[in-house]
Amino acid sequence: MRTIKDINIDGKRVFIRCDFNVPKDEFGNITDDRRIRASLQTIRYCIDRDCKIILASHYERPEPGKYEEKYSLKPVAKRLHTLLKIKNEILMAEDVVGPDAKAKAEKLEAGDILLLENLRFEAGETTNDENFARELASFADVYVNDAFGACHRKHASIYAIAQFFDKEHKAAGFLLSKEVNFFSKVLENPVRPFVAVVGGSKVSGKLEALNKLLDKVDKVIIGGGMAFTFLKAQGYEIGKSLVEDDLLDEANRVMEKAHRQGIKFYLPVDFVVAPEFSENTAVKYLPSQEIPKDWMGLDTGPASSRLFREVLNDAQTIIWNGPMGVYEMDKFSKGSIMMSHHIAETHATTIVGGGDTADVAQRAGDVDEMTFVSTGGGASLKLIEGEELPGLTALEMD
Ligand code: AMP
Repeated sequence: MRTIKDINIDGKRVFIRCDFNVPKDEFGNITDDRRIRASLQTIRYCIDRDCKIILASHYERPEPGKYEEKYSLKPVAKRLHTLLKIKNEILMAEDVVGPDAKAKAEKLEAGDILLLENLRFEAGETTNDENFARELASFADVYVNDAFGACHRKHASIYAIAQFFDKEHKAAGFLLSKEVNFFSKVLENPVRPFVAVVGGSKVSGKLEALNKLLDKVDKVIIGGGMAFTFLKAQGYEIGKSLVEDDLLDEANRVMEKAHRQGIKFYLPVDFVVAPEFSENTAVKYLPSQEIPKDWMGLDTGPASSRLFREVLNDAQTIIWNGPMGVYEMDKFSKGSIMMSHHIAETHATTIVGGGDTADVAQRAGDVDEMTFVSTGGGASLKLIEGEELPGLTALEMD
Protein backbone atom coordinates (compact mmCIF):
# COMPACT_ATOMS: atom_id res chain seq x y z
CA MET A 1 0.00 0.00 0.00
CA ARG A 2 1.34 3.44 -0.95
CA THR A 3 1.61 5.52 2.18
CA ILE A 4 2.20 9.16 2.76
CA LYS A 5 5.92 8.34 3.10
CA ASP A 6 6.05 7.26 -0.54
CA ILE A 7 4.90 10.56 -2.03
CA ASN A 8 6.28 14.08 -1.88
CA ILE A 9 4.20 16.27 0.37
CA ASP A 10 6.80 18.88 1.39
CA GLY A 11 5.21 22.29 1.72
CA LYS A 12 2.04 21.14 -0.03
CA ARG A 13 -1.63 21.58 0.78
CA VAL A 14 -2.69 18.24 2.19
CA PHE A 15 -6.26 17.09 2.70
CA ILE A 16 -6.41 14.37 5.34
CA ARG A 17 -9.63 12.38 5.68
CA CYS A 18 -9.66 11.35 9.34
CA ASP A 19 -12.15 9.39 11.41
CA PHE A 20 -13.00 11.64 14.33
CA ASN A 21 -16.30 9.91 15.02
CA VAL A 22 -15.65 9.70 18.77
CA PRO A 23 -18.18 8.90 21.50
CA LYS A 24 -19.49 11.79 23.61
CA ASP A 25 -21.55 11.82 26.82
CA GLU A 26 -24.87 13.63 27.35
CA PHE A 27 -22.98 16.86 28.10
CA GLY A 28 -21.07 16.74 24.82
CA ASN A 29 -17.76 15.70 26.43
CA ILE A 30 -15.58 13.34 24.45
CA THR A 31 -15.49 10.10 26.43
CA ASP A 32 -12.92 8.21 24.39
CA ASP A 33 -10.42 10.08 22.21
CA ARG A 34 -8.61 7.02 20.86
CA ARG A 35 -9.57 7.84 17.28
CA ILE A 36 -8.19 11.35 17.61
CA ARG A 37 -4.96 10.10 19.18
CA ALA A 38 -4.65 7.52 16.42
CA SER A 39 -4.59 10.32 13.83
CA LEU A 40 -1.69 12.23 15.41
CA GLN A 41 1.15 10.41 13.69
CA THR A 42 0.02 11.37 10.20
CA ILE A 43 -0.82 14.93 11.20
CA ARG A 44 2.55 15.44 12.91
CA TYR A 45 4.33 14.05 9.86
CA CYS A 46 2.60 16.70 7.76
CA ILE A 47 3.36 19.49 10.25
CA ASP A 48 7.04 18.52 10.18
CA ARG A 49 7.01 18.82 6.40
CA ASP A 50 5.57 22.34 6.45
CA CYS A 51 2.28 21.28 4.90
CA LYS A 52 -0.88 23.35 4.99
CA ILE A 53 -3.20 20.83 6.52
CA ILE A 54 -6.94 20.48 5.91
CA LEU A 55 -8.62 17.86 8.09
CA ALA A 56 -12.06 16.42 7.44
CA SER A 57 -14.25 13.85 9.16
CA HIS A 58 -17.83 12.82 9.59
CA TYR A 59 -19.45 12.75 13.00
CA GLU A 60 -22.42 10.49 13.71
CA ARG A 61 -25.49 10.82 11.50
CA PRO A 62 -26.91 14.34 11.26
CA GLU A 63 -29.80 14.99 8.92
CA PRO A 64 -28.04 15.67 5.61
CA GLY A 65 -27.88 19.28 4.59
CA LYS A 66 -28.71 20.62 8.05
CA TYR A 67 -26.33 22.18 10.60
CA GLU A 68 -26.87 21.05 14.19
CA GLU A 69 -24.54 22.13 16.98
CA LYS A 70 -24.58 18.72 18.65
CA TYR A 71 -22.97 17.19 15.58
CA SER A 72 -20.30 19.87 15.26
CA LEU A 73 -16.63 18.87 15.26
CA LYS A 74 -15.67 21.87 17.43
CA PRO A 75 -14.92 19.71 20.52
CA VAL A 76 -12.65 17.60 18.34
CA ALA A 77 -10.65 20.68 17.28
CA LYS A 78 -10.03 21.49 20.93
CA ARG A 79 -9.02 17.97 21.90
CA LEU A 80 -6.78 17.69 18.87
CA HIS A 81 -5.04 20.90 19.84
CA THR A 82 -4.42 19.59 23.35
CA LEU A 83 -3.10 16.26 22.09
CA LEU A 84 -0.84 17.75 19.43
CA LYS A 85 0.70 20.12 21.98
CA ILE A 86 1.22 22.81 19.39
CA LYS A 87 1.20 26.55 19.95
CA ASN A 88 -1.14 27.63 17.17
CA GLU A 89 -4.87 27.07 17.53
CA ILE A 90 -6.51 24.62 15.15
CA LEU A 91 -8.67 26.68 12.84
CA MET A 92 -12.26 25.49 12.87
CA ALA A 93 -14.36 26.10 9.77
CA GLU A 94 -17.99 27.07 10.26
CA ASP A 95 -18.95 25.02 7.21
CA VAL A 96 -17.66 22.18 5.03
CA VAL A 97 -17.06 23.61 1.58
CA GLY A 98 -18.73 26.99 2.16
CA PRO A 99 -17.24 30.51 2.18
CA ASP A 100 -15.83 30.25 5.71
CA ALA A 101 -13.93 27.01 5.04
CA LYS A 102 -12.61 28.39 1.76
CA ALA A 103 -11.50 31.70 3.26
CA LYS A 104 -9.73 29.97 6.14
CA ALA A 105 -8.08 27.41 3.86
CA GLU A 106 -6.80 30.25 1.68
CA LYS A 107 -5.00 31.86 4.60
CA LEU A 108 -3.24 28.72 5.86
CA GLU A 109 0.50 29.05 6.44
CA ALA A 110 3.05 26.23 6.63
CA GLY A 111 2.19 23.91 9.54
CA ASP A 112 -1.29 25.41 10.07
CA ILE A 113 -4.25 23.12 10.52
CA LEU A 114 -7.85 23.71 9.45
CA LEU A 115 -10.62 21.34 10.49
CA LEU A 116 -13.69 21.39 8.24
CA GLU A 117 -17.12 20.95 9.79
CA ASN A 118 -18.81 17.55 9.90
CA LEU A 119 -18.76 16.22 6.32
CA ARG A 120 -22.26 14.84 6.76
CA PHE A 121 -23.68 18.35 7.12
CA GLU A 122 -23.46 18.18 3.31
CA ALA A 123 -25.90 15.79 1.64
CA GLY A 124 -23.29 14.98 -1.02
CA GLU A 125 -21.01 13.13 1.43
CA THR A 126 -23.06 9.98 1.90
CA THR A 127 -24.33 9.96 -1.70
CA ASN A 128 -20.73 9.99 -2.97
CA ASP A 129 -21.61 13.11 -4.97
CA GLU A 130 -19.00 14.02 -7.56
CA ASN A 131 -19.51 17.76 -7.37
CA PHE A 132 -19.17 17.79 -3.62
CA ALA A 133 -16.05 15.61 -3.92
CA ARG A 134 -14.62 18.05 -6.47
CA GLU A 135 -15.12 20.92 -4.05
CA LEU A 136 -13.40 18.98 -1.27
CA ALA A 137 -10.55 18.10 -3.61
CA SER A 138 -10.08 21.75 -4.57
CA PHE A 139 -8.76 22.46 -1.06
CA ALA A 140 -5.53 20.55 -1.60
CA ASP A 141 -2.69 19.26 -3.82
CA VAL A 142 -2.49 15.95 -2.00
CA TYR A 143 -5.18 13.60 -0.67
CA VAL A 144 -4.44 11.38 2.30
CA ASN A 145 -6.92 8.82 3.60
CA ASP A 146 -6.34 7.96 7.24
CA ALA A 147 -9.96 7.12 8.10
CA PHE A 148 -9.84 3.34 8.46
CA GLY A 149 -13.16 3.34 10.31
CA ALA A 150 -14.91 4.87 7.28
CA CYS A 151 -13.09 3.05 4.48
CA HIS A 152 -15.86 0.51 3.94
CA ARG A 153 -18.21 3.31 2.89
CA LYS A 154 -18.41 4.62 -0.66
CA HIS A 155 -18.73 8.23 0.46
CA ALA A 156 -17.52 11.37 -1.30
CA SER A 157 -14.56 12.08 0.99
CA ILE A 158 -13.48 8.43 0.87
CA TYR A 159 -14.20 7.41 -2.70
CA ALA A 160 -15.26 10.06 -5.23
CA ILE A 161 -12.63 12.55 -4.06
CA ALA A 162 -9.73 10.25 -4.96
CA GLN A 163 -10.41 10.52 -8.70
CA PHE A 164 -9.23 14.14 -8.62
CA PHE A 165 -5.70 13.14 -7.58
CA ASP A 166 -3.20 11.04 -9.53
CA LYS A 167 -1.14 8.36 -7.84
CA GLU A 168 1.68 10.75 -7.02
CA HIS A 169 -0.76 12.88 -5.08
CA LYS A 170 -2.75 10.44 -2.99
CA ALA A 171 -1.83 7.87 -0.36
CA ALA A 172 -2.82 6.14 2.85
CA GLY A 173 -1.99 7.71 6.19
CA PHE A 174 -0.08 5.81 8.85
CA LEU A 175 -3.18 4.69 10.74
CA LEU A 176 -4.93 3.28 7.69
CA SER A 177 -1.83 1.43 6.60
CA LYS A 178 -1.20 0.05 10.10
CA GLU A 179 -4.78 -1.22 10.46
CA VAL A 180 -4.85 -2.94 7.08
CA ASN A 181 -1.39 -4.48 7.46
CA PHE A 182 -2.17 -5.79 10.91
CA PHE A 183 -5.41 -7.49 9.92
CA SER A 184 -3.91 -8.91 6.72
CA LYS A 185 -0.89 -10.32 8.54
CA VAL A 186 -2.94 -11.97 11.25
CA LEU A 187 -5.55 -13.37 8.90
CA GLU A 188 -3.01 -14.69 6.39
CA ASN A 189 -0.58 -16.17 8.81
CA PRO A 190 -1.99 -16.57 12.32
CA VAL A 191 -0.02 -18.30 15.04
CA ARG A 192 -2.22 -21.16 16.27
CA PRO A 193 -4.42 -21.90 18.11
CA PHE A 194 -6.36 -19.01 16.59
CA VAL A 195 -9.60 -18.14 18.42
CA ALA A 196 -12.38 -15.81 17.24
CA VAL A 197 -14.62 -14.30 19.89
CA VAL A 198 -17.77 -12.97 18.25
CA GLY A 199 -20.54 -11.16 20.09
CA GLY A 200 -22.87 -8.21 19.67
CA SER A 201 -26.52 -7.95 18.92
CA LYS A 202 -27.21 -9.86 15.73
CA VAL A 203 -26.00 -12.74 13.64
CA SER A 204 -26.99 -10.95 10.44
CA GLY A 205 -24.32 -8.23 10.71
CA LYS A 206 -21.55 -10.74 11.28
CA LEU A 207 -22.69 -13.81 9.37
CA GLU A 208 -20.37 -13.28 6.42
CA ALA A 209 -17.38 -12.58 8.68
CA LEU A 210 -18.23 -15.62 10.79
CA ASN A 211 -18.34 -17.84 7.71
CA LYS A 212 -14.95 -16.55 6.57
CA LEU A 213 -13.45 -16.92 10.02
CA LEU A 214 -14.47 -20.59 10.08
CA ASP A 215 -11.95 -21.14 7.27
CA LYS A 216 -9.16 -19.68 9.35
CA VAL A 217 -9.66 -20.22 13.07
CA ASP A 218 -9.35 -23.23 15.38
CA LYS A 219 -12.07 -22.20 17.84
CA VAL A 220 -15.03 -19.84 17.91
CA ILE A 221 -16.67 -18.38 21.00
CA ILE A 222 -20.10 -16.85 20.49
CA GLY A 223 -21.63 -14.41 22.97
CA GLY A 224 -24.02 -11.47 23.05
CA GLY A 225 -27.51 -11.37 21.58
CA MET A 226 -26.42 -13.44 18.59
CA ALA A 227 -25.93 -16.52 20.76
CA PHE A 228 -29.71 -16.97 21.07
CA THR A 229 -30.22 -17.55 17.37
CA PHE A 230 -27.73 -20.42 17.60
CA LEU A 231 -29.35 -21.80 20.77
CA LYS A 232 -32.83 -21.61 19.28
CA ALA A 233 -31.55 -23.29 16.12
CA GLN A 234 -30.46 -26.17 18.38
CA GLY A 235 -34.00 -26.34 19.72
CA TYR A 236 -33.59 -24.65 23.09
CA GLU A 237 -36.08 -22.32 24.76
CA ILE A 238 -34.67 -18.78 24.71
CA GLY A 239 -37.69 -16.91 26.12
CA LYS A 240 -37.92 -13.31 24.93
CA SER A 241 -34.20 -13.05 24.14
CA LEU A 242 -33.05 -11.35 20.97
CA VAL A 243 -33.37 -13.72 18.03
CA GLU A 244 -33.37 -13.71 14.25
CA ASP A 245 -35.88 -16.38 13.31
CA ASP A 246 -35.10 -16.06 9.61
CA LEU A 247 -31.51 -17.09 10.27
CA LEU A 248 -32.10 -20.32 12.19
CA ASP A 249 -31.20 -22.48 9.18
CA GLU A 250 -28.16 -20.35 8.49
CA ALA A 251 -27.11 -20.69 12.12
CA ASN A 252 -27.36 -24.47 11.81
CA ARG A 253 -25.30 -24.36 8.62
CA VAL A 254 -22.59 -22.37 10.45
CA MET A 255 -22.51 -24.91 13.28
CA GLU A 256 -22.45 -27.84 10.82
CA LYS A 257 -19.60 -26.23 8.90
CA ALA A 258 -17.66 -25.74 12.13
CA HIS A 259 -18.26 -29.38 13.04
CA ARG A 260 -17.25 -30.61 9.58
CA GLN A 261 -14.05 -28.62 9.66
CA GLY A 262 -13.13 -29.71 13.15
CA ILE A 263 -13.50 -26.25 14.61
CA LYS A 264 -14.49 -26.03 18.25
CA PHE A 265 -17.67 -23.96 18.49
CA TYR A 266 -18.58 -22.64 21.95
CA LEU A 267 -21.87 -21.08 23.00
CA PRO A 268 -22.60 -19.62 26.45
CA VAL A 269 -23.67 -22.21 29.01
CA ASP A 270 -25.45 -19.75 31.29
CA PHE A 271 -26.93 -16.27 31.18
CA VAL A 272 -27.94 -13.32 33.27
CA VAL A 273 -31.64 -13.20 32.51
CA ALA A 274 -34.26 -10.55 33.23
CA PRO A 275 -38.00 -10.11 32.64
CA GLU A 276 -37.42 -6.83 30.78
CA PHE A 277 -34.75 -4.84 28.98
CA SER A 278 -33.96 -2.46 31.81
CA GLU A 279 -31.25 -1.64 34.34
CA ASN A 280 -33.79 -1.61 37.20
CA THR A 281 -35.15 -5.06 36.74
CA ALA A 282 -34.82 -8.28 38.70
CA VAL A 283 -32.17 -10.67 37.41
CA LYS A 284 -31.46 -14.38 37.70
CA TYR A 285 -28.38 -16.38 36.82
CA LEU A 286 -29.58 -19.44 34.94
CA PRO A 287 -28.16 -22.25 32.80
CA SER A 288 -28.73 -21.66 29.10
CA GLN A 289 -31.30 -24.46 28.91
CA GLU A 290 -33.44 -22.99 31.67
CA ILE A 291 -34.39 -19.56 30.40
CA PRO A 292 -38.04 -18.95 31.44
CA LYS A 293 -40.48 -18.33 28.58
CA ASP A 294 -41.10 -14.65 29.30
CA TRP A 295 -37.55 -13.70 30.37
CA MET A 296 -34.61 -12.67 28.24
CA GLY A 297 -30.87 -13.27 28.37
CA LEU A 298 -28.96 -10.00 28.56
CA ASP A 299 -25.46 -11.13 29.49
CA THR A 300 -23.38 -14.28 29.60
CA GLY A 301 -23.16 -15.78 33.08
CA PRO A 302 -20.28 -16.72 35.40
CA ALA A 303 -20.08 -20.36 34.24
CA SER A 304 -19.68 -19.17 30.64
CA SER A 305 -16.93 -16.78 31.73
CA ARG A 306 -15.03 -19.65 33.33
CA LEU A 307 -15.58 -21.87 30.31
CA PHE A 308 -14.39 -19.16 27.91
CA ARG A 309 -11.28 -18.56 30.01
CA GLU A 310 -10.41 -22.23 29.65
CA VAL A 311 -11.02 -22.08 25.91
CA LEU A 312 -8.76 -19.05 25.55
CA ASN A 313 -6.03 -20.49 27.74
CA ASP A 314 -3.84 -21.93 24.97
CA ALA A 315 -4.71 -19.33 22.30
CA GLN A 316 -1.84 -17.72 20.41
CA THR A 317 -4.00 -15.39 18.32
CA ILE A 318 -7.37 -13.94 19.30
CA ILE A 319 -9.72 -11.74 17.30
CA TRP A 320 -12.54 -10.24 19.33
CA ASN A 321 -15.51 -8.43 17.84
CA GLY A 322 -18.72 -7.71 19.75
CA PRO A 323 -19.65 -7.53 23.45
CA MET A 324 -20.92 -10.55 25.39
CA GLY A 325 -24.00 -8.75 26.71
CA VAL A 326 -25.76 -5.40 27.06
CA TYR A 327 -22.56 -3.97 28.50
CA GLU A 328 -23.94 -0.41 28.44
CA MET A 329 -25.98 -1.34 31.55
CA ASP A 330 -23.79 -2.14 34.56
CA LYS A 331 -25.95 -5.09 35.53
CA PHE A 332 -25.25 -6.78 32.22
CA SER A 333 -21.65 -5.74 31.67
CA LYS A 334 -19.82 -8.39 33.68
CA GLY A 335 -19.67 -11.01 30.91
CA SER A 336 -18.04 -8.51 28.55
CA ILE A 337 -15.66 -7.15 31.18
CA MET A 338 -14.60 -10.68 32.16
CA MET A 339 -14.07 -11.56 28.50
CA SER A 340 -11.86 -8.51 28.13
CA HIS A 341 -9.81 -9.56 31.19
CA HIS A 342 -9.46 -13.13 29.95
CA ILE A 343 -8.28 -12.01 26.53
CA ALA A 344 -5.90 -9.45 28.02
CA GLU A 345 -4.42 -12.06 30.37
CA THR A 346 -3.42 -14.47 27.60
CA HIS A 347 -0.04 -14.34 25.92
CA ALA A 348 -1.74 -14.35 22.54
CA THR A 349 -1.65 -11.69 19.85
CA THR A 350 -4.96 -10.00 20.56
CA ILE A 351 -6.94 -7.88 18.14
CA VAL A 352 -9.98 -6.00 19.32
CA GLY A 353 -12.26 -4.68 16.58
CA GLY A 354 -15.39 -2.57 16.75
CA GLY A 355 -16.32 0.56 18.64
CA ASP A 356 -18.36 -1.27 21.28
CA THR A 357 -15.71 -3.89 21.84
CA ALA A 358 -12.97 -1.29 22.16
CA ASP A 359 -15.23 0.54 24.59
CA VAL A 360 -15.53 -2.61 26.72
CA ALA A 361 -11.74 -3.08 26.74
CA GLN A 362 -11.38 0.56 27.74
CA ARG A 363 -13.91 0.28 30.59
CA ALA A 364 -12.22 -2.92 31.73
CA GLY A 365 -8.87 -1.09 31.81
CA ASP A 366 -7.36 -3.62 29.42
CA VAL A 367 -6.56 -1.51 26.35
CA ASP A 368 -2.82 -1.42 27.07
CA GLU A 369 -2.75 -5.19 27.42
CA MET A 370 -4.21 -5.79 23.96
CA THR A 371 -1.84 -6.09 21.03
CA PHE A 372 -4.01 -4.02 18.74
CA VAL A 373 -7.27 -2.17 19.20
CA SER A 374 -8.73 -1.31 15.81
CA THR A 375 -10.45 2.03 15.30
CA GLY A 376 -12.91 0.55 12.82
CA GLY A 377 -15.65 -1.99 13.53
CA GLY A 378 -17.46 -2.21 10.19
CA ALA A 379 -14.25 -1.79 8.22
CA SER A 380 -12.44 -4.53 10.13
CA LEU A 381 -15.39 -6.90 9.57
CA LYS A 382 -15.16 -6.21 5.84
CA LEU A 383 -11.44 -7.02 5.91
CA ILE A 384 -12.21 -10.29 7.69
CA GLU A 385 -14.88 -11.00 5.07
CA GLY A 386 -12.17 -10.53 2.44
CA GLU A 387 -14.03 -7.69 0.77
CA GLU A 388 -12.31 -4.80 -0.90
CA LEU A 389 -12.66 -1.55 0.97
CA PRO A 390 -13.78 1.31 -1.32
CA GLY A 391 -11.33 3.60 0.46
CA LEU A 392 -8.40 1.40 -0.52
CA THR A 393 -9.62 0.84 -4.08
CA ALA A 394 -9.93 4.59 -4.58
CA LEU A 395 -6.30 5.14 -3.60
CA GLU A 396 -5.19 2.68 -6.30
CA MET A 397 -7.28 4.17 -9.13
CA ASP A 398 -5.52 6.26 -11.79
P1 AMP B 1 -23.10 -5.00 17.45
O1 AMP B 1 -23.25 -3.57 17.00
O2 AMP B 1 -23.81 -5.99 16.61
O3 AMP B 1 -21.65 -5.38 17.74
O4 AMP B 1 -23.86 -5.10 18.86
C1 AMP B 1 -23.49 -4.39 20.00
C2 AMP B 1 -24.70 -4.28 20.85
O5 AMP B 1 -25.18 -5.57 21.15
C3 AMP B 1 -24.47 -3.59 22.16
O6 AMP B 1 -25.11 -2.36 22.12
C4 AMP B 1 -25.10 -4.53 23.17
O7 AMP B 1 -25.94 -3.85 24.11
C5 AMP B 1 -25.95 -5.45 22.32
N1 AMP B 1 -26.16 -6.74 22.96
C6 AMP B 1 -25.24 -7.60 23.42
N2 AMP B 1 -25.81 -8.66 24.00
C7 AMP B 1 -27.14 -8.51 23.92
C8 AMP B 1 -28.27 -9.28 24.33
N3 AMP B 1 -28.11 -10.43 24.98
N4 AMP B 1 -29.49 -8.78 24.07
C9 AMP B 1 -29.64 -7.61 23.43
N5 AMP B 1 -28.61 -6.83 22.99
C10 AMP B 1 -27.38 -7.28 23.23
